[in-house]
Amino acid sequence: MTETIHAGGVSISGLHKSYGSNEVLKGIDLTVAPGEVVCLIGPSGSGKSTVLRCVNLLETPNQGTVTVSGFDATDPEVDLNAMRRHVGMVFQQFNLFPHLSVLENCTVAQTKVLGRAKAEAAAVARENLTRVGLEGFEERYPDQLSGGQQQRVAIARALSMNPQLMLFDEPTSALDPETVGEVLSVMRRLAAAGMTMLVVTHEMAFARDVADRVVFMDGGVVVEEGPAEQVIGSPTQPRTQDFLRRVL
Ligand code: ADP
Ligand code: MG
Repeated sequence: MTETIHAGGVSISGLHKSYGSNEVLKGIDLTVAPGEVVCLIGPSGSGKSTVLRCVNLLETPNQGTVTVSGFDATDPEVDLNAMRRHVGMVFQQFNLFPHLSVLENCTVAQTKVLGRAKAEAAAVARENLTRVGLEGFEERYPDQLSGGQQQRVAIARALSMNPQLMLFDEPTSALDPETVGEVLSVMRRLAAAGMTMLVVTHEMAFARDVADRVVFMDGGVVVEEGPAEQVIGSPTQPRTQDFLRRVL
């Protein structure tokens, strides 16, 4: 197993991914340093989700290297389960288990994957539910919660695995507008606490305020990247300028 050199960091180099003859990623280089927050922005279909899916090997790259938390994800010998345990993922659709309570949603992987005792898993889950502002919601079921509350449960569930890196794929895109803010504020707090985060988002105000760096993708390549203020405030590339004109 590869040693952990940069806890939580991501390093992607020359990443290519095709579906049949459709080359979706055409040589992506992207890094997230430990403790850094990087927002990945770009039009629909540009390959953002595919990048995230290559980071925790939900997809297999055709070419290039992906290093996550010191694990070489593209090494055929890599312990994928060990690597994935370091990575928390939050999707647009929250994917909570509907038949499990909020607390059970946050404990099931802890007991099954990490082998934690029930009481310990419950304590960790309660701590993380408090962290996302859902203390007192432990016995509720997903269908008794708003979208924003469900997404905060999904974040607490991911945090309960003690990840070194959190991946977010448009975590607020499926939410009613009035609940977007509560999810973004949880993410802001997480960033402020030093979590390493790679976030695909269309929330430009969030990206500008919270991201250390912003990466703009279009057509399977990184078109422009830099400090959030620079890429969103004064982009240099015409494609970035066009995109921002449409979303801002
Ligand atoms: P984004 O997240 O930026 O909207 P995606 O990474 O989801 O973009 O998709 C990039 C391209 O890859 C799209 O053209 C999409 O149709 C294609 N694609 C994504 N996943 C698959 C798949 N499993 N099979 C075939 N094509 C896919
Ligand atoms: Mg996507």
